[in-house]
Amino acid sequence: ASLEVQPKPSVISWPTGSTGGNAFMVAAGPCGVESREQILTAARFVKRHGAQMLRGGAFKPRTSPYSYQGMGREGLDLLVEARAETGLPVVTEVLSPEQVELVAEHADMLQIGARNAQNFALLQAVGETNKPVMLKRGMSMTLEEFLMSAEYVLSRGNLKVILVERGIRTFERATRFTLDVSAVPLLKSWTHLPVWIDPSHAAGKRDYVIPLALAGVAVGADGIIVETHPEPEKALSDAAQQLHEHEFALLMKKVRAILPAV
Ligand code: PEP
Ligand code: MN
Repeated sequence: ASLEVQPKPSVISWPTGSTGGNAFMVAAGPCGVESREQILTAARFVKRHGAQMLRGGAFKPRTSPYSYQGMGREGLDLLVEARAETGLPVVTEVLSPEQVELVAEHADMLQIGARNAQNFALLQAVGETNKPVMLKRGMSMTLEEFLMSAEYVLSRGNLKVILVERGIRTFERATRFTLDVSAVPLLKSWTHLPVWIDPSHAAGKRDYVIPLALAGVAVGADGIIVETHPEPEKALSDAAQQLHEHEFALLMKKVRAILPAV
């Protein structure tokens, strides 16, 4: 992952797009896929407001086993349908090595969640695919540990890794996690891999998502991944932090005020 090995920033691509280099991108969509109508509605509006990628978990890694666990396979099929209609590539989470083949058949990008950021068997398994891997920072990981997790993917031959700062655990409880904005310039001074930020899981509350997203833009992130839902109050997971459509539209407008090319 080191800039000593590759001094030029990596540009990571999939059939319909890329991240890294000079471009900035936005991935957006609900926390979880909940129904056909929900994901298609979200896909249409994130596309309309200018997102370049659709997010949505089919398999949800919930802290409590009694919380909503996602639609599973059916959710993957709905993501494929949303991609077919909107043209947006999809990123979705994979929870175990056994699931990698199935998820890779459906998704354009594989998401490794914060709770699995040191699941080395899973990291090696996605390292054996040719799909881009969006790796979230574990909530208690140092940046060095984070890069070592990326190395688990890279060392298996998959060089398409995107690092995502999504907030870390600190003593502060007013936000869900503390967005470590310094992670972006630090990582970018060490590694050629693209670095995104996820303001949604850091904030935990929708009112703080836009400012944190803009902080990510200001510190030089290569992209953001944001949660938005057609009816956030009714969301089956992460209801408090998902943006309403109008808030997502406002975020895009503010991002474009800084970066007109988005
Ligand atoms: C998510 O993106 O919905 C998610 C579970 O995020 P994290 O792994 O960062 O908590
Ligand atoms: Mn979520």
